[in-house]
Amino acid sequence: MACSVYIHIPFCLKKCVYCDFVSVPFDGVLSDRYLAALGRELSLSLSLSARGKSKMRLKTLFVGGGTPTALSAWQLKGLFDSIGRGFDFYPDAEVTVEANPATLDEEKLGVLLQGGVNRISIGAQSFDAEELKLLGRAHRPGEISDAVELCRAAGLENIGLDLIYGIPGQKMQTWLQTLKSALELGPRHISAYELTVEEKTGLWDLVRGGALEMPSEDDVLSMSGAAQEALEAAGFVRYEVSNYAIAGFECRHNLNYWRRGEYLGLGVAAHSFSDGRRWSNTCSVLEYIAAIEAGELPVAGAETLTKDEQRREVFLLGLRTGEGVPLAADGAGGAALERAAAELIAEGLLEVRRGRLSATRRGFHLLDSVIFRLLAGLSL
Ligand code: SF4
Repeated sequence: MACSVYIHIPFCLKKCVYCDFVSVPFDGVLSDRYLAALGRELSLSLSLSARGKSKMRLKTLFVGGGTPTALSAWQLKGLFDSIGRGFDFYPDAEVTVEANPATLDEEKLGVLLQGGVNRISIGAQSFDAEELKLLGRAHRPGEISDAVELCRAAGLENIGLDLIYGIPGQKMQTWLQTLKSALELGPRHISAYELTVEEKTGLWDLVRGGALEMPSEDDVLSMSGAAQEALEAAGFVRYEVSNYAIAGFECRHNLNYWRRGEYLGLGVAAHSFSDGRRWSNTCSVLEYIAAIEAGELPVAGAETLTKDEQRREVFLLGLRTGEGVPLAADGAGGAALERAAAELIAEGLLEVRRGRLSATRRGFHLLDSVIFRLLAGLSL
Protein backbone atom coordinates (compact mmCIF):
# COMPACT_ATOMS: atom_id res chain seq x y z
CA MET A 1 0.00 0.00 0.00
CA ALA A 2 1.30 3.44 -0.93
CA CYS A 3 2.66 5.64 1.84
CA SER A 4 2.92 8.67 -0.44
CA VAL A 5 0.05 10.79 -1.64
CA TYR A 6 -0.08 13.56 -4.22
CA ILE A 7 -3.01 16.00 -4.32
CA HIS A 8 -3.49 18.24 -7.34
CA ILE A 9 -5.00 21.71 -6.96
CA PRO A 10 -5.54 23.01 -10.51
CA PHE A 11 -6.09 26.71 -9.76
CA CYS A 12 -3.67 29.55 -10.48
CA LEU A 13 -3.86 33.33 -10.41
CA LYS A 14 -3.26 33.33 -14.18
CA LYS A 15 -1.86 31.03 -16.84
CA CYS A 16 1.90 31.33 -17.38
CA VAL A 17 2.90 31.49 -21.04
CA TYR A 18 4.96 28.26 -20.96
CA CYS A 19 2.65 26.17 -18.79
CA ASP A 20 1.23 22.84 -19.94
CA PHE A 21 0.20 21.65 -16.48
CA VAL A 22 -3.46 21.07 -15.79
CA SER A 23 -4.36 24.45 -14.35
CA VAL A 24 -7.17 26.97 -14.78
CA PRO A 25 -7.62 30.53 -13.50
CA PHE A 26 -8.91 30.62 -9.92
CA ASP A 27 -12.69 30.78 -9.63
CA GLY A 28 -14.37 30.82 -6.20
CA VAL A 29 -17.44 28.74 -7.11
CA LEU A 30 -15.56 26.21 -9.24
CA SER A 31 -12.84 25.76 -6.61
CA ASP A 32 -15.46 25.12 -3.90
CA ARG A 33 -17.05 22.41 -6.06
CA TYR A 34 -13.62 20.99 -6.85
CA LEU A 35 -12.60 20.79 -3.19
CA ALA A 36 -15.88 19.07 -2.30
CA ALA A 37 -15.20 16.54 -5.09
CA LEU A 38 -11.64 16.06 -3.89
CA GLY A 39 -12.89 15.26 -0.37
CA ARG A 40 -15.26 12.66 -1.88
CA GLU A 41 -12.55 11.12 -4.06
CA LEU A 42 -10.40 10.74 -0.99
CA SER A 43 -13.13 8.87 0.93
CA LEU A 44 -14.06 6.84 -2.16
CA SER A 45 -10.45 5.77 -2.80
CA LEU A 46 -9.94 4.77 0.80
CA SER A 47 -13.22 2.87 1.03
CA LEU A 48 -12.29 0.91 -2.13
CA SER A 49 -8.80 0.16 -0.87
CA ALA A 50 -7.87 -2.80 1.30
CA ARG A 51 -7.79 -0.48 4.31
CA GLY A 52 -11.56 -0.06 4.42
CA LYS A 53 -12.37 2.58 6.99
CA SER A 54 -8.94 2.76 8.61
CA LYS A 55 -6.66 5.69 7.84
CA MET A 56 -3.69 5.44 5.50
CA ARG A 57 -0.41 6.31 7.23
CA LEU A 58 1.75 8.59 5.13
CA LYS A 59 5.49 9.12 4.88
CA THR A 60 5.06 11.92 2.36
CA LEU A 61 2.24 14.15 1.16
CA PHE A 62 2.70 16.63 -1.67
CA VAL A 63 0.00 19.19 -2.44
CA GLY A 64 0.88 20.60 -5.85
CA GLY A 65 -0.69 22.19 -8.82
CA GLY A 66 -1.53 24.59 -10.19
CA THR A 67 -1.05 26.82 -7.20
CA PRO A 68 -2.51 25.35 -3.99
CA THR A 69 -1.98 28.69 -2.23
CA ALA A 70 -4.28 30.38 -4.77
CA LEU A 71 -7.04 28.91 -2.56
CA SER A 72 -8.36 31.06 0.29
CA ALA A 73 -7.27 30.37 3.87
CA TRP A 74 -10.76 29.00 4.52
CA GLN A 75 -10.55 26.62 1.57
CA LEU A 76 -7.08 25.46 2.61
CA LYS A 77 -8.45 24.74 6.07
CA GLY A 78 -11.22 22.61 4.56
CA LEU A 79 -8.69 20.78 2.40
CA PHE A 80 -6.42 19.94 5.33
CA ASP A 81 -9.42 18.93 7.45
CA SER A 82 -10.31 16.37 4.74
CA ILE A 83 -6.69 15.24 4.60
CA GLY A 84 -6.67 14.79 8.38
CA ARG A 85 -9.86 12.68 8.20
CA GLY A 86 -8.33 10.36 5.60
CA PHE A 87 -4.68 10.10 6.59
CA ASP A 88 -2.38 9.71 9.55
CA PHE A 89 1.26 10.73 9.31
CA TYR A 90 4.46 9.06 10.45
CA PRO A 91 6.19 11.30 13.03
CA ASP A 92 8.88 12.29 10.49
CA ALA A 93 6.51 12.59 7.51
CA GLU A 94 7.34 15.18 4.86
CA VAL A 95 4.34 17.36 4.03
CA THR A 96 4.92 19.75 1.14
CA VAL A 97 2.82 22.49 -0.40
CA GLU A 98 3.65 24.36 -3.59
CA ALA A 99 3.18 28.11 -3.47
CA ASN A 100 3.33 31.15 -5.69
CA PRO A 101 5.09 34.08 -3.96
CA ALA A 102 2.15 36.42 -4.65
CA THR A 103 -0.37 34.16 -2.91
CA LEU A 104 1.13 33.69 0.55
CA ASP A 105 0.02 35.49 3.67
CA GLU A 106 0.23 34.91 7.42
CA GLU A 107 -3.26 33.51 7.68
CA LYS A 108 -2.71 30.88 4.96
CA LEU A 109 0.65 29.91 6.41
CA GLY A 110 -0.97 29.50 9.83
CA VAL A 111 -3.55 27.13 8.31
CA LEU A 112 -0.88 25.16 6.45
CA LEU A 113 1.28 24.71 9.55
CA GLN A 114 -1.76 23.71 11.56
CA GLY A 115 -2.49 21.11 8.86
CA GLY A 116 0.98 19.58 9.30
CA VAL A 117 2.84 21.24 6.42
CA ASN A 118 6.60 21.25 7.11
CA ARG A 119 8.02 21.97 3.66
CA ILE A 120 7.17 24.64 1.11
CA SER A 121 8.19 24.79 -2.52
CA ILE A 122 8.01 28.35 -3.86
CA GLY A 123 7.77 28.98 -7.61
CA ALA A 124 10.29 31.81 -7.82
CA GLN A 125 11.47 31.04 -11.40
CA SER A 126 13.53 34.24 -11.86
CA PHE A 127 14.63 37.32 -9.93
CA ASP A 128 14.60 39.42 -13.11
CA ALA A 129 11.44 41.50 -13.58
CA GLU A 130 11.58 41.33 -17.39
CA GLU A 131 11.99 37.56 -17.41
CA LEU A 132 9.07 37.12 -15.01
CA LYS A 133 6.97 39.31 -17.29
CA LEU A 134 7.97 37.34 -20.38
CA LEU A 135 7.08 34.08 -18.59
CA GLY A 136 3.69 35.52 -17.67
CA ARG A 137 4.28 34.96 -13.96
CA ALA A 138 1.90 36.56 -11.49
CA HIS A 139 4.60 37.85 -9.14
CA ARG A 140 7.41 40.41 -8.98
CA PRO A 141 10.99 39.65 -7.82
CA GLY A 142 10.52 41.46 -4.48
CA GLU A 143 7.59 39.19 -3.60
CA ILE A 144 9.90 36.15 -3.55
CA SER A 145 11.95 37.44 -0.60
CA ASP A 146 8.75 38.63 1.11
CA ALA A 147 7.32 35.11 0.78
CA VAL A 148 10.48 33.50 2.17
CA GLU A 149 10.48 35.92 5.12
CA LEU A 150 6.82 35.19 5.82
CA CYS A 151 7.52 31.44 5.82
CA ARG A 152 10.44 31.85 8.23
CA ALA A 153 8.44 34.11 10.51
CA ALA A 154 5.74 31.44 10.59
CA GLY A 155 8.34 28.83 11.64
CA LEU A 156 8.76 27.08 8.30
CA GLU A 157 12.47 26.43 7.66
CA ASN A 158 12.37 23.73 4.98
CA ILE A 159 11.97 26.11 2.05
CA GLY A 160 12.59 25.24 -1.60
CA LEU A 161 12.80 27.62 -4.56
CA ASP A 162 12.04 26.65 -8.17
CA LEU A 163 14.05 28.43 -10.86
CA ILE A 164 13.94 28.36 -14.67
CA TYR A 165 16.79 28.84 -17.14
CA GLY A 166 16.94 28.89 -20.92
CA ILE A 167 14.41 31.74 -21.14
CA PRO A 168 14.30 33.57 -24.51
CA GLY A 169 16.69 36.50 -24.34
CA GLN A 170 18.20 35.35 -21.03
CA LYS A 171 21.85 36.25 -20.59
CA MET A 172 24.28 34.22 -18.49
CA GLN A 173 24.63 37.32 -16.32
CA THR A 174 20.93 37.43 -15.39
CA TRP A 175 20.89 33.68 -14.72
CA LEU A 176 23.90 33.99 -12.42
CA GLN A 177 22.18 36.89 -10.68
CA THR A 178 19.02 34.80 -10.22
CA LEU A 179 21.09 31.99 -8.68
CA LYS A 180 22.85 34.47 -6.39
CA SER A 181 19.58 36.10 -5.28
CA ALA A 182 18.06 32.68 -4.61
CA LEU A 183 21.07 31.58 -2.52
CA GLU A 184 20.99 34.80 -0.51
CA LEU A 185 17.55 33.80 0.75
CA GLY A 186 19.01 30.63 2.34
CA PRO A 187 16.70 27.95 0.90
CA ARG A 188 17.33 24.29 1.69
CA HIS A 189 16.36 23.10 -1.78
CA ILE A 190 16.62 24.56 -5.28
CA SER A 191 15.10 23.12 -8.44
CA ALA A 192 16.64 24.47 -11.65
CA TYR A 193 14.48 23.55 -14.65
CA GLU A 194 15.30 24.13 -18.28
CA LEU A 195 12.47 25.97 -20.01
CA THR A 196 10.94 23.73 -22.65
CA VAL A 197 8.48 24.75 -25.34
CA GLU A 198 5.39 22.59 -25.00
CA GLU A 199 2.66 22.33 -27.61
CA LYS A 200 -0.59 24.23 -27.05
CA THR A 201 1.10 26.86 -24.88
CA GLY A 202 1.42 30.58 -25.54
CA LEU A 203 5.19 30.13 -25.71
CA TRP A 204 4.81 27.56 -28.50
CA ASP A 205 2.84 30.09 -30.58
CA LEU A 206 5.34 32.89 -29.88
CA VAL A 207 8.36 30.76 -30.81
CA ARG A 208 6.74 29.27 -33.91
CA GLY A 209 5.54 32.70 -34.99
CA GLY A 210 9.09 34.03 -34.68
CA ALA A 211 8.23 36.57 -31.96
CA LEU A 212 10.58 34.82 -29.49
CA GLU A 213 13.74 32.82 -30.03
CA MET A 214 14.88 30.09 -27.67
CA PRO A 215 18.55 30.17 -26.58
CA SER A 216 20.97 27.83 -28.36
CA GLU A 217 21.67 24.35 -26.99
CA ASP A 218 25.20 25.46 -26.08
CA ASP A 219 23.91 28.44 -24.11
CA VAL A 220 21.44 26.22 -22.27
CA LEU A 221 24.16 23.70 -21.42
CA SER A 222 26.37 26.51 -20.12
CA MET A 223 23.54 27.75 -17.90
CA SER A 224 22.97 24.23 -16.56
CA GLY A 225 26.71 23.94 -15.83
CA ALA A 226 26.75 27.36 -14.17
CA ALA A 227 23.87 26.31 -11.92
CA GLN A 228 25.69 23.18 -10.85
CA GLU A 229 28.86 25.14 -10.13
CA ALA A 230 27.16 27.91 -8.15
CA LEU A 231 24.92 25.58 -6.18
CA GLU A 232 27.63 23.05 -5.34
CA ALA A 233 29.90 25.91 -4.23
CA ALA A 234 27.10 26.92 -1.84
CA GLY A 235 26.94 23.41 -0.34
CA PHE A 236 24.08 21.96 -2.39
CA VAL A 237 24.18 18.43 -3.80
CA ARG A 238 22.73 17.66 -7.21
CA TYR A 239 20.64 14.65 -6.23
CA GLU A 240 18.52 14.65 -9.38
CA VAL A 241 19.08 16.10 -12.82
CA SER A 242 17.10 19.28 -11.98
CA ASN A 243 17.18 19.20 -8.19
CA TYR A 244 19.73 20.36 -5.64
CA ALA A 245 19.51 20.20 -1.85
CA ILE A 246 21.49 20.75 1.29
CA ALA A 247 22.18 17.20 2.57
CA GLY A 248 19.13 15.88 4.40
CA PHE A 249 16.71 18.24 2.61
CA GLU A 250 16.16 16.21 -0.58
CA CYS A 251 12.48 15.99 -1.49
CA ARG A 252 11.55 12.55 -0.20
CA HIS A 253 8.23 12.58 -2.03
CA ASN A 254 9.92 12.99 -5.42
CA LEU A 255 12.67 10.51 -4.55
CA ASN A 256 9.90 7.97 -4.05
CA TYR A 257 8.76 8.55 -7.69
CA TRP A 258 12.26 8.13 -9.07
CA ARG A 259 12.80 4.99 -6.99
CA ARG A 260 9.52 3.60 -8.35
CA GLY A 261 7.85 3.57 -4.96
CA GLU A 262 4.06 3.36 -4.83
CA TYR A 263 1.89 6.44 -4.52
CA LEU A 264 -1.73 7.51 -4.66
CA GLY A 265 -2.71 10.60 -6.65
CA LEU A 266 -5.90 12.51 -5.92
CA GLY A 267 -7.46 15.28 -7.95
CA VAL A 268 -7.69 16.15 -11.61
CA ALA A 269 -4.88 14.68 -13.78
CA ALA A 270 -3.29 12.96 -10.76
CA HIS A 271 -1.35 9.75 -11.38
CA SER A 272 -1.15 6.69 -9.12
CA PHE A 273 1.08 3.63 -8.99
CA SER A 274 0.45 0.47 -7.02
CA ASP A 275 1.08 -3.27 -7.53
CA GLY A 276 2.79 -2.66 -10.88
CA ARG A 277 -0.28 -0.81 -12.19
CA ARG A 278 -0.30 2.86 -13.18
CA TRP A 279 -3.48 4.86 -13.57
CA SER A 280 -4.41 8.49 -14.04
CA ASN A 281 -7.42 10.70 -13.50
CA THR A 282 -9.12 12.74 -16.21
CA CYS A 283 -7.38 16.00 -17.16
CA SER A 284 -10.64 17.97 -17.31
CA VAL A 285 -11.68 19.77 -14.12
CA LEU A 286 -15.36 19.63 -15.10
CA GLU A 287 -15.24 15.92 -16.03
CA TYR A 288 -13.45 15.22 -12.76
CA ILE A 289 -16.15 16.96 -10.72
CA ALA A 290 -18.97 15.31 -12.74
CA ALA A 291 -17.52 11.80 -12.24
CA ILE A 292 -17.12 12.28 -8.50
CA GLU A 293 -20.59 13.83 -8.14
CA ALA A 294 -21.94 10.71 -9.90
CA GLY A 295 -20.17 8.55 -7.30
CA GLU A 296 -17.53 7.25 -9.72
CA LEU A 297 -13.75 7.36 -9.60
CA PRO A 298 -12.52 9.79 -12.30
CA VAL A 299 -9.97 7.37 -13.78
CA ALA A 300 -9.21 8.08 -17.45
CA GLY A 301 -6.55 5.47 -18.17
CA ALA A 302 -4.68 2.56 -16.61
CA GLU A 303 -1.94 0.14 -17.58
CA THR A 304 -0.12 -2.75 -16.00
CA LEU A 305 3.53 -2.66 -16.87
CA THR A 306 5.18 -5.63 -18.52
CA LYS A 307 8.48 -6.89 -17.11
CA ASP A 308 10.27 -5.17 -19.99
CA GLU A 309 8.55 -1.84 -19.33
CA GLN A 310 9.43 -2.12 -15.65
CA ARG A 311 13.11 -2.67 -16.53
CA ARG A 312 13.06 0.39 -18.78
CA GLU A 313 11.47 2.48 -16.04
CA VAL A 314 14.19 1.53 -13.58
CA PHE A 315 16.76 3.15 -15.89
CA LEU A 316 14.55 5.97 -17.12
CA LEU A 317 13.78 7.14 -13.60
CA GLY A 318 16.83 5.94 -11.66
CA LEU A 319 19.39 7.57 -13.92
CA ARG A 320 17.78 10.93 -13.27
CA THR A 321 19.05 10.67 -9.70
CA GLY A 322 22.53 11.10 -8.27
CA GLU A 323 22.28 7.67 -6.66
CA GLY A 324 21.65 6.03 -10.06
CA VAL A 325 20.55 2.41 -10.40
CA PRO A 326 21.94 -0.77 -8.88
CA LEU A 327 24.07 -2.60 -11.47
CA ALA A 328 21.80 -5.63 -11.29
CA ALA A 329 18.65 -3.48 -11.33
CA ASP A 330 17.02 -5.33 -14.21
CA GLY A 331 17.88 -8.77 -12.88
CA ALA A 332 19.42 -9.76 -16.22
CA GLY A 333 21.10 -6.82 -17.90
CA GLY A 334 22.30 -8.83 -20.84
CA ALA A 335 25.36 -8.35 -23.00
CA ALA A 336 23.85 -5.58 -25.15
CA LEU A 337 23.06 -3.44 -22.14
CA GLU A 338 26.50 -4.02 -20.70
CA ARG A 339 28.06 -2.99 -24.02
CA ALA A 340 26.00 0.21 -24.15
CA ALA A 341 26.89 1.00 -20.52
CA ALA A 342 30.58 0.29 -21.13
CA GLU A 343 30.62 2.68 -24.11
CA LEU A 344 28.94 5.42 -22.06
CA ILE A 345 31.39 4.84 -19.19
CA ALA A 346 34.34 5.05 -21.61
CA GLU A 347 32.96 8.36 -22.91
CA GLY A 348 32.79 9.71 -19.37
CA LEU A 349 28.98 9.96 -19.38
CA LEU A 350 28.25 7.17 -16.88
CA GLU A 351 30.23 5.83 -13.94
CA VAL A 352 30.03 3.01 -11.44
CA ARG A 353 30.15 3.92 -7.77
CA ARG A 354 29.56 1.50 -4.89
CA GLY A 355 27.86 -1.01 -7.19
CA ARG A 356 25.54 1.54 -8.79
CA LEU A 357 25.49 2.98 -12.29
CA SER A 358 24.97 6.74 -12.38
CA ALA A 359 25.44 9.73 -14.67
CA THR A 360 28.62 11.75 -14.39
CA ARG A 361 28.53 15.53 -14.28
CA ARG A 362 28.80 15.56 -18.10
CA GLY A 363 26.30 12.71 -18.35
CA PHE A 364 23.73 14.79 -16.45
CA HIS A 365 24.07 17.55 -19.06
CA LEU A 366 23.34 15.05 -21.84
CA LEU A 367 21.00 12.83 -19.88
CA ASP A 368 18.31 12.35 -22.53
CA SER A 369 20.74 10.96 -25.07
CA VAL A 370 22.55 8.88 -22.41
CA ILE A 371 19.28 7.23 -21.39
CA PHE A 372 18.24 6.79 -25.03
CA ARG A 373 21.46 4.95 -25.84
CA LEU A 374 21.28 2.79 -22.74
CA LEU A 375 17.67 1.83 -23.38
CA ALA A 376 18.50 1.02 -26.99
CA GLY A 377 21.00 -1.46 -25.51
CA LEU A 378 18.28 -2.86 -23.25
CA SER A 379 15.97 -3.64 -26.16
CA LEU A 380 18.56 -5.37 -28.37
S1 SF4 B 1 1.83 28.93 -11.63
FE1 SF4 B 1 2.66 26.94 -12.34
S2 SF4 B 1 0.84 25.67 -12.72
FE2 SF4 B 1 0.15 27.81 -12.57
S3 SF4 B 1 0.06 28.53 -14.68
FE3 SF4 B 1 2.10 29.10 -13.87
S4 SF4 B 1 3.43 27.36 -14.39
FE4 SF4 B 1 1.32 26.68 -14.65
